[in-house]
Amino acid sequence: MENQIHIPLDLPDVRILEVNQLSPQGWLIRVESTIEGSTCGKCGREIDAFHGYDAPIRLRHLPLFEVPVWIEIRPKRYRCPHCEGSPTNTQSTTWYQRRSPNTKAYEQWLMRILVNSTVRDVSRKLNLSEASVNGVLDRWIETRVNWAEIHQISVLGIDEIALKRGHRDYVVIVTYKTSTGVSILAVLPDRKRETVEQFLASIPLRLQATIEGVCSDMYSGYITAVRAQLPEAKVIVDRFHVAQNYRDCADTVRKQELKRLKQELPKAEYALFKGTMWAFRKPYETLQWEEKVKLNRLLVYSPAIEQAHTLSQQLTEIFEANHTKETATQAILAWAKRVRQRQVKAFDSFLTTLNNWLNEITNYFIERQTSGFVEGFNNRIKVLKRRCFGIFDVSRLFQRLTLDLQGYTRFPAI
Ligand SMILES: [Zn+2]
Repeated sequence: MENQIHIPLDLPDVRILEVNQLSPQGWLIRVESTIEGSTCGKCGREIDAFHGYDAPIRLRHLPLFEVPVWIEIRPKRYRCPHCEGSPTNTQSTTWYQRRSPNTKAYEQWLMRILVNSTVRDVSRKLNLSEASVNGVLDRWIETRVNWAEIHQISVLGIDEIALKRGHRDYVVIVTYKTSTGVSILAVLPDRKRETVEQFLASIPLRLQATIEGVCSDMYSGYITAVRAQLPEAKVIVDRFHVAQNYRDCADTVRKQELKRLKQELPKAEYALFKGTMWAFRKPYETLQWEEKVKLNRLLVYSPAIEQAHTLSQQLTEIFEANHTKETATQAILAWAKRVRQRQVKAFDSFLTTLNNWLNEITNYFIERQTSGFVEGFNNRIKVLKRRCFGIFDVSRLFQRLTLDLQGYTRFPAI
């Protein structure tokens, strides 16, 4: 007796009838409800004419010292004397949902474990089937947004995700800024303009009116959809999308030149350029000393790479500087002029991009001054994107992203 303890079961309105040890491992706790009466499913009246017990059901409950626990209960049935045919109704309890094989406490615990994890991993940890884990997810996380719970949107994000690496199948995630970070509004099955427009139209008017800005990539499908549905909202192209674009242009030059150098230089000399890719793409002042040395050597060998690098770095500097929309526009246009004068063909596609989206790109400078929201937003989206690989069902994606973002609030640790 000296190494035994009593622990309260902590389920409301039940009496423990019996506790049995199961083999090979587990506890079975038989309980009965201490509540009398039920509500008639037909007329809604309180009824207390006891009819009998249902067959026993076993519910998985929180483990005790890692040993699995089941609760067994025979639900009580009551008759309604008011309705024709005296129909019976099963008493419901607060600690389990009808048709669920688990107690609520167990399912909430499972949800917390699933946050930032995977269904497969949780199913292994808890020795459950993946279908069971998904069943719990379906009982606790909705598959679409509940507009009634949202009071304000202010900034909306539209981002696409390739569900398989290198695939052209995209889904679109629509997010919005909350006081604590980012929340998810929808996962759309494709990135067609109509699909995005339809979704934007489905946002209740009272919320549409609160949207001040929309962050998106430079994709005309999104931007035309936003202009059509939310004409009051400012479209903001995030600087990271822009940077990706011009760094790719510069990188094309680097690759072409390396090809040439590989043919012209002795092997040992060419080998010195290994590992310069990241040094080339990153802002120069953030580089380590050795990286700078390596990169500088490459720039000396190839004036074309040097030029592409300088142009790319100059743009990054513009985005780093504390510009207003107006001064940023001037700086970017002056930059574009230099590119045209020097006839750097590699940046042609970026010049077109600028031509199309300069207004949206420079809106970023307004946004940064007023709220600075886009800055952190993009990093959060990146993390979310990585979570989406291998999940192909848009409802599931919505559930999983919702759980990752809100799980710790909705299912707090005790
Ligand atoms: Zn009734």
